[in-house]
Amino acid sequence: MSSSQILREVFGYEQFRGPQEAIVSHVITGGDALVLMPTGGGKSLCYQIPAIARQQAGHGVTVVISPLIALMHDQVGALHEAGVEAEFLNSTLTGEQASALEKRLLRADLTMLYAAPERITTPRFLALLDSLHERGLLSMFAIDEAHCVSQWGHDFRPEYRALTVLHERYAGVPRMALTATADALTRADIVERLQLEEAQQFVSSFDRPNIRYKIVEKKDATQQLLRFIQHEHEGDAGIVYCQSRRKVEDIAQTLCAAGLNALPYHAGLDALVRQTHQDRFLREDGIVMVATIAFGMGIDKPDVRFVAHLDMPKNIEGYYQETGRAGRDGAPANAWMGYGLQDVVNQRRMIDESPAGDDFKQVMRGKLDALLTLAEGADCRRVRLLAYFDEASQPCNNCDNCLNPPNVWDGTDAARKLLSTIYRVQQASGISFGAGHIMDIVRGKTTDKVTQFGHEGLTTFGIGAAFSEIQLRGVLRQLIATGSLNVDGQAFNTLQLTEQSRAVLKGEVAVRLRESVSTPAERKPKRGGSASSKPDAAPLALDDAAQIRFASLKAWRGEVAREHNLPAYVIFHDATLAAIAERVPQTLDDLQGISGIGAKKLEAYGEEVLRVVGL
Ligand code: ADP
Ligand code: ZN
Repeated sequence: MSSSQILREVFGYEQFRGPQEAIVSHVITGGDALVLMPTGGGKSLCYQIPAIARQQAGHGVTVVISPLIALMHDQVGALHEAGVEAEFLNSTLTGEQASALEKRLLRADLTMLYAAPERITTPRFLALLDSLHERGLLSMFAIDEAHCVSQWGHDFRPEYRALTVLHERYAGVPRMALTATADALTRADIVERLQLEEAQQFVSSFDRPNIRYKIVEKKDATQQLLRFIQHEHEGDAGIVYCQSRRKVEDIAQTLCAAGLNALPYHAGLDALVRQTHQDRFLREDGIVMVATIAFGMGIDKPDVRFVAHLDMPKNIEGYYQETGRAGRDGAPANAWMGYGLQDVVNQRRMIDESPAGDDFKQVMRGKLDALLTLAEGADCRRVRLLAYFDEASQPCNNCDNCLNPPNVWDGTDAARKLLSTIYRVQQASGISFGAGHIMDIVRGKTTDKVTQFGHEGLTTFGIGAAFSEIQLRGVLRQLIATGSLNVDGQAFNTLQLTEQSRAVLKGEVAVRLRESVSTPAERKPKRGGSASSKPDAAPLALDDAAQIRFASLKAWRGEVAREHNLPAYVIFHDATLAAIAERVPQTLDDLQGISGIGAKKLEAYGEEVLRVVGL
């Protein structure tokens, strides 16, 4: 079959998306490739279709390398549903299962084998591959989540380094690496570490137009989050990221107490609990997963409607990859982040205190700064995000700054007043103080502490009485973010001047800030039909009768999914069910051509679907 036939017959899709077609045709003919595509862009088909085509052409088995053991079962299950011979080999198999699979592998009676990197590089497994290779039945290697090879990425996995053996031992076997993380540094690292110098690079647009970005200043963060979910995402599936395990537990509890269906997920939980929570998130509707970044890689649930960050991530790559988990189905989704002075202080301190070398710390600070600039910026979030991945774009009209342009004010004067106060306090008292005390002096507040240290006598006492605390806090945040002020984590988070403070003090550097505005909570965006929603998989606006059919189809799908022990979306996506409900098919022919119904699914479920629709 040709690649477009496979796309239609096996996966039930009419058209390739973006660069998929170019990638697939390059790889089918044996070319090496590096594929950089945002989360939700459709990477899986880029290796699955070549794997099927090459198997049909007699090239044998494709080995898919993935770190995501907990997800292999569902990934392979999805391929089975589409009628593809795929299996996984990992530590969850019994010895018997594993040796049965090895026999099948030796017969090359398999299109795709998923395996973890640590498994692939064992002598036993390499011997199996040798045998296939000698007989010309080792078709290709697909290295998924390839950024795991890079220490600049946020998911560094040392096992990935050992994958160079593939190139050395099986030089003629085509290799493709795929990732959703693609800043220049990480990309270069992948090429070098996996020896993909000769590979063709396919870099897609990183834009995810259906995701709306919102970044808000934290005031009462938990309540802000709760309002966001309750106003805009009632009953939706979503992910809330927090930095610490402790906070994950707290927030999950708070959300549950507020009546939401929330579950915690972090590396400190028992493996079985983690797996159960992940399964529930994938299999049940409307679960909010409160998690550390340990959760999410490879989660291909298409209908996650929001991703919220309650703490600021380390860098833009992390932020972009995490937010990318929203809206894979192409329907409207929200990425919400709260950030504040404490986030800046914490992240800075984590870098400063890490045991890494100075060069590494410098890179990390640069990456943090890029994220802070995004948060503080008053211009289009998407333009900045894409620019970070070297992509030029126009204001998007689908982010908070585009939709509600914030006012910008000149904080240069306030910054100078703060810095000179810090200087004078240090001079007068010989010690440093924290943000609260400094702001009290600048605003001329006679607190106990001010009196105790005689700071009302300073020449700068009260020089910034006109500024609000919120304004000053914003200025401090930006000064810290840009390195013009240092926070000493070892000494009660006291503030200290740096080399760069001088330029601000002298007025050589302007400090421009977004005004803190409390935007009224928006109403829940209406699903479907809106002019701004993007074409791909946008849910259809169904009339009442179709709604009823849609509901019955969903109930039927739920039963099938439970029987097969797979997430519901693996059987059919919502968009596919909605299309069926709308079209009211009478015959199997009527079902053909609906996106998401391939030949195998038509055969397996066609009659049932007609029955459910006809009820
Ligand atoms: P990624 O791995 O890049 O994050 P996936 O491979 O999981 O993305 O694809 C995201 C979603 O898009 C999946 O639900 C997939 O079925 C769907 N998809 C991919 N390619 C196409 C296509 N050509 N037409 C329609 N849907 C597609
Ligand atoms: Zn915008």
